[in-house]
Amino acid sequence: MEQMALHVLAILNQPSADAAPHAAGAPAFRFADPGEPQLSVLDLGATRGDGIFESISVGNGRAQALEHHLRRFASSAAKLELPAPDLDAWRAAILASIDELDPVSESWVKTVMTRGIEGHDQPTGWVYVAPTSDFSKVRTEGVRVVMLDRGYRHDIEHTAPWLLAGAKTLSYAVNRAVLREAKRRDADDVIFVSSDGFVLEGPTSSVVYRRGDRILTPGTGLGILDGTTQANVFRFAEGLGLETGFELAREDDLREADAAWLVSSVRLAAPVRAIDGRPMAVDADFTGALNAHLLALRD
Ligand code: PLP
Repeated sequence: MEQMALHVLAILNQPSADAAPHAAGAPAFRFADPGEPQLSVLDLGATRGDGIFESISVGNGRAQALEHHLRRFASSAAKLELPAPDLDAWRAAILASIDELDPVSESWVKTVMTRGIEGHDQPTGWVYVAPTSDFSKVRTEGVRVVMLDRGYRHDIEHTAPWLLAGAKTLSYAVNRAVLREAKRRDADDVIFVSSDGFVLEGPTSSVVYRRGDRILTPGTGLGILDGTTQANVFRFAEGLGLETGFELAREDDLREADAAWLVSSVRLAAPVRAIDGRPMAVDADFTGALNAHLLALRD
């Protein structure tokens, strides 16, 4: 590709070293036109949602929390019993794709690996990079959330691992359906609650909240994602001398918190300004400093 691009697609030749390449002897990845169809209609990612993905923030051309994202990508693959992604090949494709993009202050990378075409034992993999849309309003004004029952107990990751809770799978139809339900309830976003009443995560975010001098999150082991942004929020808070911790929280623990945020790559920290119609205080100074910190991250 000779010119810089407004969005970039790289297709991996061999997404996993444990499976055959698509073209023997070809380079690790090739750039392709993201405006043209590239995926087979027989790909299990498209027909069954059988695959995994990551969304990574890029600040001024630097992928943030890249190694954490790659670790989680590998962990999602293991949960789905997909061939292990070749992380060196993925890292190279990600970095090269970012380099191809027209320079912008904020962009994002999506990595997708599917089980490929049924019967071929050859995963499909691609990296897509594009500028980020403007999230400044949601980062300052925040979101009104509703708590919705996810319908599973908080311990299903251990009791029913075949449900793939805690893996970042392509099967996000439910995560989108709940946003439509939120809209019907005059809200912007959702916090999932387990059927036995514990706070889990948002459909595309981790939940972080403040009680006094402590910044808390439900943490892992509850069938929720190991959030890369949540980890960086904790580092930021610890740098300010705040205590951080994981806590099995009930709905009321969250309602009674001093402040709460939905945190994720790309959108970063969105303060929660109402839960189920009840207003919640927004800590504008802390939120502003937190988002500035997340935007400036270089790792
Ligand atoms: N939980 C879910 C279900 C998500 O989809 C995401 C991100 O998309 C997160 C949590 C937050 O993860 P991260 O901060 O690594 O983006």
